Amino acid sequence: MNTPFLSLGLQPELVKAVAELGFEQPTPIQEQAIPHILQSKSDLVAFAQTGTGKTAAFGLPILQHIDTSSRETQALVLCPTRELCLQITKDLDAYARFLPNMQVTAVYGGADVTRQITALKRGAHIVVGTPGRALDLINRGRLKVENIQWLVLDESDEMLSMGFKDELDAILANTPEHKRTFLFSATMPPDMVSIAEKYMHKPVEISVGKKNQGAENVQHHYYMVHAKDRYEALKRIADYYPNIYGIVFCRTRQETKDIAEKLMHDGYNADALHGDLSQPQRDYVMQRFRIKQLQILVATDVAARGLDVNNLSHVIHYNLPDDPEVYIHRSGRTGRAGKKGISLSIIHLREKSKLHFIEKKINKKFENKLVPGGKDICEKQLFHLVDNMEKTEVDEAQIEPYLPKVYKKLDWLSREDLIKRFVSVEFNHFLEYYKDAKDLNADLRPDRNDRNDRFGRDSRREDRGERRESRRSASSGSFSKVAFNIGKKDNVSPKVLINLINKQLPNRSIRIGAIDLGKSFSIVEVDSKYQREVVEAFRNARFKGLKLEVTIK
Ligand code: AMP
Repeated sequence: MNTPFLSLGLQPELVKAVAELGFEQPTPIQEQAIPHILQSKSDLVAFAQTGTGKTAAFGLPILQHIDTSSRETQALVLCPTRELCLQITKDLDAYARFLPNMQVTAVYGGADVTRQITALKRGAHIVVGTPGRALDLINRGRLKVENIQWLVLDESDEMLSMGFKDELDAILANTPEHKRTFLFSATMPPDMVSIAEKYMHKPVEISVGKKNQGAENVQHHYYMVHAKDRYEALKRIADYYPNIYGIVFCRTRQETKDIAEKLMHDGYNADALHGDLSQPQRDYVMQRFRIKQLQILVATDVAARGLDVNNLSHVIHYNLPDDPEVYIHRSGRTGRAGKKGISLSIIHLREKSKLHFIEKKINKKFENKLVPGGKDICEKQLFHLVDNMEKTEVDEAQIEPYLPKVYKKLDWLSREDLIKRFVSVEFNHFLEYYKDAKDLNADLRPDRNDRNDRFGRDSRREDRGERRESRRSASSGSFSKVAFNIGKKDNVSPKVLINLINKQLPNRSIRIGAIDLGKSFSIVEVDSKYQREVVEAFRNARFKGLKLEVTIK
């Protein structure tokens, strides 16, 4: 069997297993990582998002190296969530199908520890674990990592953002110096740079796609509405895409519950996934979503981590996250495996600057879409219905005995009348619901040069005020925007930013306009004449030890 996987240096048992899984070509990350892990002795930092085939990229070469004649744990894979842990274990088991005696064991929190201890006692060549439970088992002397030869840190940025830094430090301190470490991550936050510097030896860096970039196949749309119309807009969008299969991301558990309940109440095929559910309840919801019994999953970021669903049509940001990395992670759940996906955000006026900041990060433009009106939705639904009707399989034998009576009863109707009535049976409630549907779009001029109100007000009244202010700034010389990579989480206030600018450009008295503070970034309007000079002045500047990045917007 001469497949491209064999040419990467993999042994026939592994090649056979991936062939049975239907893998024909290695993915880019596999092409780069597999030969490296098989042949080279160095550590590896790989930038790759979920869905790129990274599990096989580290899993296959590690499986090839494992010595099954020993019962020792030789590889440890750390990942952020129970779901991902189980997924990786399942994938490794599938790749190891033709490797007799290979033992892969999952250890994760929220499950009976004694069963995991028993599994470890039986001998586990590869242990896949979440950091908390893995450390607990190490401390109990049940998980022995003193002799591991391979350590994988999977979704490292997620592990750090979930607060596992101390656990990672403690686990890494227990592992031998000579092991090889492979770090997989979609992004490279500063904490991870320090972990890589501390524990890794001259790692080779590989990257599929550009760092910090959203997936190629994802289109980014936004809908601009007033905050109070958000839910109504969500419903319209769901109605406009009758085949939608997506996750609606909310900020809080409460919001998640509220939106899911409202959607269910309004007849949508939706459910909620959040931290207040017990593990069995979460498993149940996730399973229903995986097998597409549910079309819409309303979830918090934390609860959705590790939910491995590949073929979402839509990711919906019910609120834009403050941190662009969160946006990248969310939207990376669609557009996988060569399929197209839509990442859509429902925003209000004052969130537009966040949007620009995300655009810079993903290196793609958002398309401004208009919330569909009643007529658009009715048309879309009607054709969906007609389409379904056309595709419906008729069970001739079952239905046959009833038909003569039905034909007789409807004899008096023309073909046109018949069609009209059948369609209306299903469709009347839509027509009725959207009869007087109002326009939900807050901003009907997509290319309007929007000014962001620093006080965060949001209504048509303020909209008018904003325009008044724009004229004022135009008459006294125009402003241009610069973006700072620091925000509220760095304790930055407008005053701090103004002082920074004055300090960095001491001989200029630069007029400053609106300042918009995000969680991890800020947008400042400065006198257009000085926009470039401001950016230049901050080259190599630092703020509380952090390297400042100031860019033109
Ligand atoms: P991962 O990024 O490891 O979560 O993988 C994403 C999905 O792609 C999983 O469902 C894998 O089974 C699948 N996959 C991984 N490698 C390949 C490949 N070379 N060809 C086709 N599918 C793959």
